[in-house]
Parts: sequence; C-alpha cells; structure tokens
Amino acid sequence: MDSLIRHPDAARIAQGTHARIDLAAISANTATMVSNAGGTPVMAVVKSNAYGHGLVPSARAALAGGASRFGVAVIEEALTLRRAGITEPILAWLPIHQADYDAAIMADVELGVEAPWRLAAIAEAAERTGRRARIHLEIDTGMSRGGSTGDDWAMLVESARDTLAGGHITVTGIFSHFACSDTPGDPSIALQLKAFAEAVAYAEASGVQPELRHVSNTAAVLTLPEARYDLVRSGLALYGLNEVEALGDAGLRPAMTLRSRVNVVKRISAGTGVMYGLTYRAPTDTTVAVIPIGYADGLLRNSSKAGVELLVGGRRHPIVGVVGMEQTVLDVGQDLPSPNDEVVVFGPGDDGELTVSEFAHLLGTVPAEIVARIPASLPRIYEP
Ligand SMILES: *Cc1c(COP(=O)(O)O)cnc(C)c1O
Repeated sequence: MDSLIRHPDAARIAQGTHARIDLAAISANTATMVSNAGGTPVMAVVKSNAYGHGLVPSARAALAGGASRFGVAVIEEALTLRRAGITEPILAWLPIHQADYDAAIMADVELGVEAPWRLAAIAEAAERTGRRARIHLEIDTGMSRGGSTGDDWAMLVESARDTLAGGHITVTGIFSHFACSDTPGDPSIALQLKAFAEAVAYAEASGVQPELRHVSNTAAVLTLPEARYDLVRSGLALYGLNEVEALGDAGLRPAMTLRSRVNVVKRISAGTGVMYGLTYRAPTDTTVAVIPIGYADGLLRNSSKAGVELLVGGRRHPIVGVVGMEQTVLDVGQDLPSPNDEVVVFGPGDDGELTVSEFAHLLGTVPAEIVARIPASLPRIYEP
C-alpha cells in the first residue's frame, strides 16, 4: 500500500484505527522554530508521549530538525529517551517521584526545582550517587502552576547557593512559563517578563549564575523575540500546531493523521434511533457507517453534538448519536461506502478532512488536548 511506511506490523495496523505520524513534518516544523528563534537554541518539548505523537520517534525527528535539548515533565520519559540512546541534555521539570532521583542523576537528566525541600532531596540523591545533579530553578512569575512564587524565591535562591557549596549540584538554569503567550498583547505577558527579569537578577546578585535562562514556549517564540534569553522551549509547533490565531498555521504542518476504516454499513429507516440514549433519530431513510473508534481512542463522547465530521471516501459525514467507547456511527446519507473504506478523523487537511485545530475548535478545547489524549496504546505508524 504505502511503501513509505516502515513498520513490521504496518499492514495489519492500517486495517484498524491508528495514528500516522509524519516525522518529516516534525523535523521541518522544528527547523522552522529553530529559524524563528534566531540563533537561540531550541529545546524540543516531548512531554506526554510527545503530545501523543510517540516519544522516541518524535524526539529523533526533532533532533534532525535542529533541536539541541529535550524537555519532558516526568523523569520516566527522560529515562526512556536515554534508554533509546538519546544523549542530548534533557530537562524533567516535574520530578514528582523522589525514588527516581538517583536514576535521573545517573542518567544525566536535569531536574526542575521549585522548593528548598526538593533541592535538598536532589542534593542527597546526588551525594548518594557520587554524581553532580544539574538543576533548573523554577520561578512562578504569575501562572500559579509550577515554580516558586516571588515571596519564596529568595529562600529558594539562598538554599541553592548554600547547596552549591557542597559540590553536589550545579544550577544549570532558571526558568518560568507564560500563562497567556498565545494572546499577544495580554497584559500578563509584560508582567511575567518583568518578574522573570527581576528573579534572574536577584539570583545572579546572590551568586547563583545559571548558564541558561529560559521562559519562552512556542507562542512566545513566534511573537516575543525579547523573551528568548538563552534557550526557548517549543512543543506545540513541532507537531504543527499553533495557538496564536493571528498567525494562521505559522508555516507549520500538522504531523498527526488519525485514521480508521469503515467496519459496517447499513440502511436504517426514518425514525430509527442511533447509539446510547437514542439521542439521534434518522430524519429520513438513510445509510449509516459504523467506525471502530471511540472515546477510549481519544474521540470525545460528545463529538456529535459539537458537529464533528469524519472523512469517508473524500467526503465529510457527521457523527450521529453519542460516541461509544469503541465505536462511532456516521450518517453517510446517500453515499454508499464499503466496509474497509478509509476514514480520516483529522489530519493536515490535504484531502478535506478536519485539521486538529478545527476539530479542537468545534469541541471547545485546544489542539494539544485532542492529540495528547490519543492513548499510547493506539498503534502509530511512523512515516519517515
Ligand atoms: C508544555 C510546556 C512547554 C511547551 O509549550 P508549547 O506551548 O507547547 O510550546 C514549555 N515549557 C513548559 C514548562 C511546559 O510545561
């Protein structure tokens, strides 16, 4: 079928619901961000299974596109990258499992730190392993998520400075994260930038001088050159997604196509109900196609209410009734698809299918949620 697909099980996988990942698009998108960053190194953010695209293949594709570091949330993902032979620096900014610190330090995984107690636990692990831990101090500049708030920053910096003396840690970075960088001009952006500059200045004046100051995510790279500092972190863009509306697709190409196949086709007569609760009744005699994809595959249950349409035989058809756990029904009207015909749930939009961004918009969410919810257990086919 598709000679580009290299996967021992590709033919079998292609018969059912699966995601195709366009690795060339991830490389090209990364290169686009490298160029947008204007010489500042780019950390490829591959948390949550690379936003659902598959951790290791996506990371390799980002590397080919010019990324020079990786960012993940949890340590386990960093260790998976190491086991796959990736040697570039990796930051795990959500090191929740203290039991993993020793392994992280042994594998040269850099760790985010937002509080003195965590710093102490990491320094102890470093001492145990006989290796130096590389840490990034996180300042909460206004989002109230990770990081130390302004009041506690002084304490964190002081404990970092004191710990430095013990020789078990290096403060590699200071970082923060924007709440609203996808809305250029939002007043919070300037406030966060100012708070970040002050936090960095405070640390440096206290004798904690990081090699890398970093605050920008994808939207900031695209709109805020003054926020680049020493490193930018990009996730969304690598997968071809952009949430800054005014920029359109920002020259990026969506990397995931979610596909399935028609399983059953049948005629139903006017008035017949469809799926749990019989919330849909066919207004006229019609044809329905049953697709083997459901909310366990990441297709949200209320997709029909949101007006989501899937592509079958080059035409979009509405989901009718609620989405089931494993199955979904389309009203294909006067069309007559055959079992095994290809279904495109979303993709880059080339053939008329919804893009992830359109899909997310209909469901009242962000594209990242749509792709990140595709379970790791759903087969993926990686196209080089
Ligand atoms: C998710 C995340 C990013 C990437 O953000 P994008 O908008 O996807 O580029 C960067 N930094 C941190 C701390 C994050 O949690």
